[in-house]
Amino acid sequence: MSHTPPPAPLERWLTGPRFAALPARDGGHKAPELSFEFFPPRTEVLDQQLWHCIRRLEPLAPRFVSVTYGAGGSTQARTHATVSRIVRETTLAPAAHLTCVNATRDEIDAVARAYWQVGVRHIVALRGDVPGGGGYVPRPGGYAYAADLVAGLKHIANFEISVAAYPEVHPTALSPEADLDNLKRKLDAGATRAITNYFFEAGTYLRFLDRCLAAGITAPIVPGIMPVSNFAQAMKFSASCGISVPGWLGYLFEGLEEDHDTRRMVAAVVAAEQVRVLQASGIDEFHFYTLNRPDLVYAIAHILGVRPGPVVPATTIA
Ligand SMILES: Cc1cc2nc3c(=O)[nH]c(=O)nc-3n(C[C@H](O)[C@H](O)[C@H](O)COP(=O)(O)OP(=O)(O)OC[C@H]3O[C@@H](n4cnc5c(N)ncnc54)[C@H](O)[C@@H]3O)c2cc1C
Repeated sequence: MSHTPPPAPLERWLTGPRFAALPARDGGHKAPELSFEFFPPRTEVLDQQLWHCIRRLEPLAPRFVSVTYGAGGSTQARTHATVSRIVRETTLAPAAHLTCVNATRDEIDAVARAYWQVGVRHIVALRGDVPGGGGYVPRPGGYAYAADLVAGLKHIANFEISVAAYPEVHPTALSPEADLDNLKRKLDAGATRAITNYFFEAGTYLRFLDRCLAAGITAPIVPGIMPVSNFAQAMKFSASCGISVPGWLGYLFEGLEEDHDTRRMVAAVVAAEQVRVLQASGIDEFHFYTLNRPDLVYAIAHILGVRPGPVVPATTIA
């Protein structure tokens, strides 16, 4: 008996209706899969804020939660401590970010082995940026680019590996085609998912998916969603990483500079609408940049139909 294999994830997204009706909010539509990104805290107070955030979002049962790694590996100890505690004390599956910058292969391999030992099975493998800006030069004896790191990690253990993707092209890529070739190299080296930098126009991401598919990429390219409540800050950060900020977004925040509460409401509506438009185009997984602030993401998840389930106590790792 012959049967047609189900389409690979990316094809599944693209072969569904491209602009169907927005998903109903009546619970009849399958809620999307979410993942959340946190950053490691610098102080005791920020640590408490992070753990409040983790506890608030935990009942939403995300597919995984990831913890960033500071420029040049500057947060190595804090990332490790946070990820290890997530393994020990929560029901969440953590993904540890790891970068190539400022470290030898041996040093990075040791960090990866330590993660495996404490039960971390998922790494977000990145090149990273030079602390304080400036051009990137691979360190002698280190992993030069994220694709090399992915291959190295696969030699250490059978990690699940996610990598970064850039719908608006990485700022230092030689060309959009070279950037796509690089993404393909990372996936060919053993990564199984890409998470995108954030973007504001659904079309930017959907055109990127088209280009990925044309390049033969079929792994999931999960859209990174950044809920923006501080427009001035978002403008500054977006300029530094080549992300276009549409005029309409500025207009939505006009006159709200001193009105924190309304800005947050606008942020929730904008991000939820962005996700729902992508859902209508067949996308069903989203990665949220939480900035360690849970309420906005919690509200957006609620609008999307993602509701808390019972939290099962964490099991001890043998
Ligand atoms: C989801 C996500 C999470 C992130 N988390 C972190 C984090 O925790 N910590 C952090 O410091 N940064 C983080 N970043 C930022 C990231 O480190 C930077 O964007 C960095 O500049 C590129 O990292 P990459 O892994 O995409 O690099 P790569 O995939 O290695 O690509 C970097 C650039 O080099 C080019 N390139 C690749 N291979 C070659 C080659 N052989 N020769 C010449 N050029 C080449 C690529 O086209 C691209 O322009 C994150 C980004 C994203 C999207």
